[in-house]
Amino acid sequence: MELTPRTQAVAAGRLTAAGQPLNPPIVPASTYVAGGHYSYAREDGTPTWAALEEAIGELEGGRATAFASGIATVAAVLDQFPVGTEVAVPTYSYSGTRGLLDHAARMGRLKVRRIDPGDSEGWTAAAGQVDLLWVESPTNPTLELIDFAPLAGQRARVVVDNTFATPLGQRPLSLGADIVVHSATKLIGGHSDLLLGLTVTADETLARALHDARTRNGATPGALEAWLALRGLRTLPVRLAEQSRTAGLLAERLAEHPAVSRVRHAGTMIAFELADAAAAEKFCAGLGLIVHATSVGGVESLVERRAKWPGDAHVPPGLIRFSVGLEDPEDLWRDLAQALA
Ligand SMILES: *Cc1c(COP(=O)(O)O)cnc(C)c1O
Repeated sequence: MELTPRTQAVAAGRLTAAGQPLNPPIVPASTYVAGGHYSYAREDGTPTWAALEEAIGELEGGRATAFASGIATVAAVLDQFPVGTEVAVPTYSYSGTRGLLDHAARMGRLKVRRIDPGDSEGWTAAAGQVDLLWVESPTNPTLELIDFAPLAGQRARVVVDNTFATPLGQRPLSLGADIVVHSATKLIGGHSDLLLGLTVTADETLARALHDARTRNGATPGALEAWLALRGLRTLPVRLAEQSRTAGLLAERLAEHPAVSRVRHAGTMIAFELADAAAAEKFCAGLGLIVHATSVGGVESLVERRAKWPGDAHVPPGLIRFSVGLEDPEDLWRDLAQALA
C-alpha cells in the first residue's frame, strides 16, 4: 500500500511481529554475541539506529545512515572526495558547514566557491565546473530557496541539506540530488533535547561508502538520541503544520510593524530585520515568553540575532532568526509586540 509521508512518519520503522514492543526499544549495545547479524555497534549499528534509519530512508526515498550530529554528516560526505575537490556552497548557509569547508580549504584539502543563493547563473555555471554542490534550501538563516533540480546530473554531485524543509516539505532525491543530509537535532527531533544527523542516498555504492565513513571515523549516534529522534519524527507532520501556520500568521503581522524592515518566511522559520545590531539585541533581551537562544526546530519558540556569531558576521546586523514553536500564536504576538515597542 502506497502511504503518504504523513502516515510514513507514524508507521515506518516499527516492529510488527507478534509479541514485539510496538516501538523499537533503546538498545545500549557496543557488542553482540558472535554469529548473528550484528557484531560490533560502530560497524553494524544497533536495532535502535536501524529503526530510525529505516523510517527516514522511507520518507526520503533512499538508504539512511545515522550519525552523531548534523555536522558529522557533512564530514562524512566530504570524506568521499579526494584532496583538491572543489565545493560550491551558498554565501548564506549554516555557519558550521561553511566553517568546516573553510577549515578544509585552509588545510589545503578542498577549494571552496561561495555563491549567493539567488545567483542562479552562478549555480548553473558551478554545476558544470566544480565537483560538489553543497545546497541548502531554504538557507539558514536567510530563508532563501535554491532551485537545485536543474543542477542535478551534471559534473558536480549534488548534496542537499534538508534540515529546514524536512522530508515532508521536499524530497531532494526525487528531484535528482545525490545525497540528502539532515540535522535531526532540529525539526525531526523537535524538542531541543538531542544531537543527531542522517545521510540519505538512493545510490547503493554511495550508501555503503557513507556507512563505511561512519565506521572509520566513529561519529556514531547515542542510543537514547536515536530513540528520541524516532519518537520526535512521529509527531513531525502535526508540529510542522501547526508551527508553519503560526509562522505564516506572525510573518504577516511582523511585515506590517513599523520597526520591522524585511520579513522572509519559510515553513516554521521567520527571518526579519530590525534597524541595527543594538535594536536587535534590545529586542531579544526584551522578550518574556520567546526564548533568546541559538538553534531552531523545537516546540518552543526561539530567537537569535545571527550576525553576533563570527561565522554569520556578513548577515545583516539587525537580522533576527525566529524559530516558531507550538505556543498559542496570540501569546507569541503579544510578546513580539511588547518587545518591539
Ligand atoms: C544545525 C544545522 C546543522 C548542524 O547540525 P548539528 O546537529 O548541530 O551538528 C546543519 N545544517 C543546518 C541547516 C543546521 O541548521
